Amino acid sequence: MKKIQMVDLKGQYEKIKEQIDTSVLDVIQSTAFINGPEVKSFQAELEQYLGAKHVIPCANGTDALQIAMMGLGLEPGDEVITADFTFAATVEVIALLKLTPVLVDVEPDSFNIDPEAIKKAITPKTKAIVPVHLFGQSANMDAIMQIAKEHNLFVIEDNAQGIGASYKFEDGSVAKTGTIGHVASTSFFPSKNLGCYGDGGAIFTNDDDLAHIIRGMVNHGMYKRYHHDVVGVNSRLDSIQATVLRAKLPNLDQYNDARRAAARKYNKAFEGIEHIVTPKVKGNSCDTHEEKICNTCNCHVFHQYTLRITNGKRDALIQHLNDNGIPCGVYYPIPLHSQKAYQDERYDEADFPVTNQLVKEVISLPMHTELENDQIKFITQTVIDFVQS
Ligand SMILES: *Cc1c(COP(=O)(O)O)cnc(C)c1O
Repeated sequence: MKKIQMVDLKGQYEKIKEQIDTSVLDVIQSTAFINGPEVKSFQAELEQYLGAKHVIPCANGTDALQIAMMGLGLEPGDEVITADFTFAATVEVIALLKLTPVLVDVEPDSFNIDPEAIKKAITPKTKAIVPVHLFGQSANMDAIMQIAKEHNLFVIEDNAQGIGASYKFEDGSVAKTGTIGHVASTSFFPSKNLGCYGDGGAIFTNDDDLAHIIRGMVNHGMYKRYHHDVVGVNSRLDSIQATVLRAKLPNLDQYNDARRAAARKYNKAFEGIEHIVTPKVKGNSCDTHEEKICNTCNCHVFHQYTLRITNGKRDALIQHLNDNGIPCGVYYPIPLHSQKAYQDERYDEADFPVTNQLVKEVISLPMHTELENDQIKFITQTVIDFVQS
């Protein structure tokens, strides 16, 4: 059995090495390192793939979130509601812009922001909701878009973990995550489902005016060379990263299929095992059939495969897996509302029962495009033996 890795970027690279090496060398020889044709081509190809009107590449997923919020014209004091159980980047940029982050609890089965908790957190100052499609599964966008409409709020989708996923609405229509709200952000960090070989990110929107504002904002607020109309930032995707992404984008559905296939095998092995809760795919899901990314279901793309260990032995299990050469992760070990930087008097522990529980129970197993059957067998057997002992 090959050594088990949490993420196997090398194995994935080996399969497309020739194409990557050639295109990276071509960029170097062209010396069009910044804003070169590769970036424009990637932008157009990603727009096509997503069915989004505008993709604006930028330097990373955190910048993408920040610029999306700047583009919407949010102002200091505006309240922005987001999930308590996610990576800190989401709340960080809200705070950085002097907006007021309002953290709310998540759903125990999908790990995603709870629409009922959003409703309770709305005040006259609320201006936006940031659902994070955590671990690769869409948040409940029917409910979130409905709440936003009723209260006249912007929806900014943090799609850093969900690229390629789709959401099936109650009316039967299906859209890719990141194309549903007013604007969305994603990350091309190497370990993300569509990762480059350095840092990268993008903003998506179907709104022509917003796209125009954002295109200037990523480039020092310039709409005409050396005319600075608004305060912007410098946030660019470079041509070498764009060419890597161009090589990988045509494989994205296949990569996500490989992740879903691995998740199915994990689920099957853990079926009926006491104290193990497998990740639930909500709604009309293609989790249950073996087809490729089908575009007619809620397609979970398993950025992470995350179990809940409900007998209090999560930390002991981590030790046991490490002892057996199996890497694993805890995403996330501390609720954002308990982080020193984001404490706020308005929070009451009683408002976060789910996050407070999840941080003690979750464990993410190796998940990537190159997992082999014997590895999955070894991982699942090691987990089961320990949990049943
Ligand atoms: C990775 C990630 C980000 C940040 O992306 P970077 O490219 O690392 O800046 C933001 N939000 C979520 C949910 C993420 O997983």
